[in-house]
Amino acid sequence: MESRLDSLRDEADALLKAGQETLTRDINESLNYALAIAEMPALRWYLAAQDRPPRADQAYSLSDLSQLSNFLNTLISHNPRYTKLVLIDNQGREVLRAPKSSETGPRVGGNHHAFTDYFEEASSLLPRDLYISPPGRNLQFELLGKDIIPVVNVSTPVFDAAGERRGVVLLSLNWDYLIIALRQAMLLDQSANTLLIDAQGRWLLDEGIPPLNTTSFGSDFSSLSPLYWQALQQRNAGHTTVDNHLLRFQTEDIRTQRYRSLAGSIFSENSYHPWKLGVTLPLPTWRSLIEEETTVLWFLLLTYGVAVAFGIFWAFSSQRQRQLRKAAQRHAYEVSDLYENAPCGYHSLDTTGRVIKMNRTELAWLGYSAQEIIGQLDYRELITPETRDQFEKAFQKVKNNQSGSAECSLLTRNGEQRHVMIQASAFYRNGQFVHSRATVFDLTERKQLEEKLRAQAMTDPLTGVFNRRYLQTQATAEISRARRQNHPIALIAIDIDHFKQINDIYGHDVGDDVLTSFTKIVADLLRQEDLLCRVGGEEFALLLPNTSLSHAEQVAERIRSTAAATSINVSEDHSEKVLWLTASLGVTAILSNEKTLKAALKRADIGLYQAKENGRNQVVVNAG
Ligand code: GH3
Ligand code: MG
Ligand code: MG
Repeated sequence: MESRLDSLRDEADALLKAGQETLTRDINESLNYALAIAEMPALRWYLAAQDRPPRADQAYSLSDLSQLSNFLNTLISHNPRYTKLVLIDNQGREVLRAPKSSETGPRVGGNHHAFTDYFEEASSLLPRDLYISPPGRNLQFELLGKDIIPVVNVSTPVFDAAGERRGVVLLSLNWDYLIIALRQAMLLDQSANTLLIDAQGRWLLDEGIPPLNTTSFGSDFSSLSPLYWQALQQRNAGHTTVDNHLLRFQTEDIRTQRYRSLAGSIFSENSYHPWKLGVTLPLPTWRSLIEEETTVLWFLLLTYGVAVAFGIFWAFSSQRQRQLRKAAQRHAYEVSDLYENAPCGYHSLDTTGRVIKMNRTELAWLGYSAQEIIGQLDYRELITPETRDQFEKAFQKVKNNQSGSAECSLLTRNGEQRHVMIQASAFYRNGQFVHSRATVFDLTERKQLEEKLRAQAMTDPLTGVFNRRYLQTQATAEISRARRQNHPIALIAIDIDHFKQINDIYGHDVGDDVLTSFTKIVADLLRQEDLLCRVGGEEFALLLPNTSLSHAEQVAERIRSTAAATSINVSEDHSEKVLWLTASLGVTAILSNEKTLKAALKRADIGLYQAKENGRNQVVVNAG
């Protein structure tokens, strides 16, 4: 489109230039012609002869005068540029006219030119000066053949050889002829319109041509086409767009130097000059462009199609990209969250074992910040010396591209230990070990639970001492060790006296409290290695490694006396009570040939039974 506009401007420039050259050339030729005629000696003489008829000795005779008349007649008749030539004397009288026919114009009398502008103006001009009347001035139209045509009167004074003013030569220019030439030059393009307007806004061409709305020569262009007139008024020359047309125009002043040719000065009426010569060309529209060039149509359609398709694709793809980006962000966040906050530890170690990555979970276990560990520590430093070997073996396996696992204890910052299972695999690049990736499971709680369960399995829940099952399993081990070490080992059976009464009087709960208190009284009297077990309701067995029978008897006695001397505080119905109780004890030694506790238990029970029989609160030794 832009290039179309450029070429349109070039076209308008070319048309205007052609028009301007034609106008210049035609007017110059016309003026030169007028000057040439005015300077013909015969013409001067002819005018002079009007005052004084020629004498016989003079160069020109009357026949010469008629010859001149014929000559001018022929000259003008055959030159379409002019409608007439009139020779006027100083009084304004017409002395010669060509063509001769009176039909070429109104002829009112011998001096009818006296008050015309062309006569009056030319009468005061200097030689070679010219006066040009405004085209069609004072309805100076002439009948040429059948047509009435506008004329431009060009007049110039005639002087004799002595420099005396002799009259005026008037040449009427056929304005239509000039216009046709102008139009021919400027209408190479069918769609172009030529315009020529005088300073008063009068249309100087023949019929009006759309879109300029003019009707005919002399019509008031300024009011018929105000938009154009306004555009023309603004500058002397230039381009502008009016009413979907490109208007290219310039100012033409036929009085100025460019038009002078052979003339001295050219005079005319100021208010009619300068003229505006212009050309209009319709602006290209998309429709016209498309009509002219079907390839343009296809190109536009294709461009439009591609643009629409691209727009749709872009809308969809950007929407899809947004969704994908969001999904990827969400995914990345989830992965990161899973890594960082997994219920297990994750870490990566370089070839030397230095930590290069560790998740938050493991950092929290260890009590360190990422800055303190990542890139700073060798993972081995976090492992207890006792379990470091296991780690080292597993790490070497991983470096040899096998997966490895190790159960180790980690040292936390505050000195605690965490028992963990480390499972690692290697990450290789181009056959080279790059780093290991490990998952760390915390076994501490599991271990603790296991121990708790194990303890529960061998502990009496009410009193916290060992139970019968533990006694039996542990006793076998203790017996065999005692045999190995040849150490004595003894057993005491204990039964609280009249315990049933406590339950009966104070209730089962108080009975439980008493059982617990009694257990504590006994346990406090024992060594680390002694095994106190609750084997029944209020019955206990006490295994005493590395203890002789007599020493066991002393222990039993101490238990009895202490129990009897120790009060037990219980609360019943929100009131505190002090209870006293006693126990009966049977003591025996495990014999060197005995591998289990069975026989010894029986002997101790017999001793116990004996003590009850004997009145309770006593110790009976049953050596077996
Ligand atoms: P003796 O001096 O003959 O040993 O008299 P005793 O009352 O202690 O004898 P017995 O074996 O007949 O009674 C034991 C009582 O212990 C029976 C039962 O109610 C009570 N008992 C057993 N286990 C528990 C327990 O876990 N809690 C409480 N509160 N009482 C228990
Ligand atoms: Mg009992
Ligand atoms: Mg009892």
